[in-house]
Amino acid sequence: MTPLPQLKTRLAEIVDLHHASALIGWDQQTYMPTGGGAARAEQSATLQKISHEMFTAEETGRLLDAAAAEVAAAGAAGLDPDADEARLVSVTRRDYEKARKVPSELVAEIARATGQAIEVWTQARAQSNWAPFSPYLARIIDLERQLADALGYTDRPYDALLDQYEPEMKTAEVQAVFDAIKPDVIALVKAIGAKANPLGDKVLHREYDEQKQWSFGLEVIKRYGFDFDRGRQDRSVHPFTTSFSINDVRLTTRVDRNFLSPALFGTLHECGHGLYEQGFSQTLEHTPLADGASLGMHESQSRLWENLVGRSKPFWKFFFPKLRAAFPEQLADQTLESFYRAANTVSPSFIRVEADEVTYGLHIMLRFEMENDLIEGRLVAADVPEAWNARMQEFLGITPPTTAEGALQDVHWSSGLIGYFPTYQLGNLISLQLWDKINTAIPDLTDQIEHGEFGVLLQWLRVNLHQHGRKFTSPELLQRITGGGLNPAPYLKYLNTKFGEIYGV
Ligand code: ZN
Repeated sequence: MTPLPQLKTRLAEIVDLHHASALIGWDQQTYMPTGGGAARAEQSATLQKISHEMFTAEETGRLLDAAAAEVAAAGAAGLDPDADEARLVSVTRRDYEKARKVPSELVAEIARATGQAIEVWTQARAQSNWAPFSPYLARIIDLERQLADALGYTDRPYDALLDQYEPEMKTAEVQAVFDAIKPDVIALVKAIGAKANPLGDKVLHREYDEQKQWSFGLEVIKRYGFDFDRGRQDRSVHPFTTSFSINDVRLTTRVDRNFLSPALFGTLHECGHGLYEQGFSQTLEHTPLADGASLGMHESQSRLWENLVGRSKPFWKFFFPKLRAAFPEQLADQTLESFYRAANTVSPSFIRVEADEVTYGLHIMLRFEMENDLIEGRLVAADVPEAWNARMQEFLGITPPTTAEGALQDVHWSSGLIGYFPTYQLGNLISLQLWDKINTAIPDLTDQIEHGEFGVLLQWLRVNLHQHGRKFTSPELLQRITGGGLNPAPYLKYLNTKFGEIYGV
């Protein structure tokens, strides 16, 4: 065997371990009885330890060097540098070097510190008291700075942290785009606030039979093109999507009897992630390339199907009569127009995960700015709630009445996930950059959506994005698809047009 197939065999075994780990993680959040928690934590740690050791071993490096030489020789003989095997070697080398840069003592220290911090944070949030959590966050920030130093960066330490979730994306580029967006979105929120719809989203908070909600969600995502021969949907407390193969993709969702949105829009959101995972080229199966390009690119897919399609007027032209047939009493007083407005209600709120399409980005920009301030030493952990509230006032014109509804609301910081938040907003931005291209490529897309037809849209995404998996980074994919980098213009135009029309601003 030449080195390349040897490398592929080794990587396939590591992929198997990752998928086994994902499977027991999925089970933990869906069907595992609570008693299984302690054993499951051990099983999960063991699988991760073995796969990490296998991946970072000298043998992997030796095979990578030899395979790189083999690919280079093939390249000289005409192999496309974008061919699966050439990309497998270059992407795996990037992963390998990153994984080897972080000393195992630092990995262990971060695991220990975050393990404690999550417990303290849970208590602190329940009591809405920042003080006990503050020293733990200070410790995590210190460790994350060490992590950035270990990973290496040329410009900003945050680059190294962001790179873990959004490879090759730079802090300066993200900041420039966020800074460009911020004043316009703040102005739009203010203008909408002056005209608020007094009914808001009350209709979504009526009582809706859970089984009917579940069935309606399934009906929509079948039409979207989610392949139930290669995936399934189950319930979980915190919705997520995971996969154990391109041909086994798991969606989870939650259902609230007194609120339509979690099951409805949550299902569409997770389906967007799932369509991406089902869309990787089968030639990438059993390799590390069968994964999303980045968290931001993944989120662009969930946001596209949840918001750009699922909260659009053409979508509801087709689905509102079906929803009303499922819930004739709850929706008796509703028209397509009133329901569409309810589903697109804009209102400044304290909690990020409950935010609407317009205000959501501001919640993320707040966190991005604060993370940079913390990592670069302009802000200390003890002052976070005050800095948080000042930004909430500046961005959204509201001040959280409690710290639980402010700086303590998210689990990310206690988990050591610094650099993760911006990927949510990158997803929104990228989804609109793609949407622009899609609408040019498919001029009658609106008409298709009004008729419940999504095949041409899904096919465009498959060809231009999904099939590539991790072969290209998100900046490379943006370049290939749009011919440029991050661009805030489509996002701003979308928000101003859609919500300008709804609110008359
Ligand atoms: Zn998502």
